[in-house]
Amino acid sequence: MKSLWSETFFIVGPCSLESMEQMAQYIPFLKKHNLKYLRAPLFKPRTHPDSFQGLGISGIKIANFLKLQGAKLVIEVCSKDQLESVISLTSIIQIGARNMQNFELLKDIGKIYSQIDMSEKPFVMLKRGFGNNFNEWLNSALYLEKYGVPKNKIILCERGTRNSCSPTGVTLDFGMALKAKAETDYKIIVDPSHGSSDDRLVLPLTKASLFLNLDGLMIEAHPTPKQSVSDAHQAISLLELDRFLEQIKSEFSQPVQF
Ligand code: PEP
Ligand code: MN
Repeated sequence: MKSLWSETFFIVGPCSLESMEQMAQYIPFLKKHNLKYLRAPLFKPRTHPDSFQGLGISGIKIANFLKLQGAKLVIEVCSKDQLESVISLTSIIQIGARNMQNFELLKDIGKIYSQIDMSEKPFVMLKRGFGNNFNEWLNSALYLEKYGVPKNKIILCERGTRNSCSPTGVTLDFGMALKAKAETDYKIIVDPSHGSSDDRLVLPLTKASLFLNLDGLMIEAHPTPKQSVSDAHQAISLLELDRFLEQIKSEFSQPVQF
């Protein structure tokens, strides 16, 4: 049985890595809840050029510190250079929704991946583009495979579809995630944060997804959500997430089975 606390991809962390002071607060949280994976986004693909673009390589020393503290880091990359600068400290390489069909990036990731010499190679997480259909998502995963990422190292992440009928502008598509789970051998996770774009919906969607027999979740949580430099509207606080995880543990007498 897969346990929520140890064997699944239960990823938490901020939208953007902002500072050492911010990130140090996740370490006791991960330890308390026996969680392994921490978002450490250094390179942010932003809609507006004046928005915070991430600390970039100047944040690598913070990422190194987090790794030394035992966290397994999840880092999005948008280019070959970015990948090369962080691959040695990354446990999950994230390809964001906007890059799902950046075929040259997918090829580069595959090629670099096949050449790296690491005792434990990272996973590669491919988020579904918010306007992409099932087959397009799978075809992009095939690019990764064709260029060097083994099937068992690929994670697909459902992060919602843009939807003008939705009050939040996005709909997390559980059907999409379930179909991917049923029809592929990839690991399948959901992102209720970008998939709802509303902090009030994140934990209910998280709870719902615990019943879907998937492989995990990625949740944006911040020590002080209102001060988050990006996606503050959808960040829940570490305190809320702490209470939620305690509640889940007491509600489920057995570890939650994905
Ligand atoms: C993210 O996970 O940080 C992100 C930007 O998500 P998406 O690519 O799904 O918009
Ligand atoms: Mn975000």
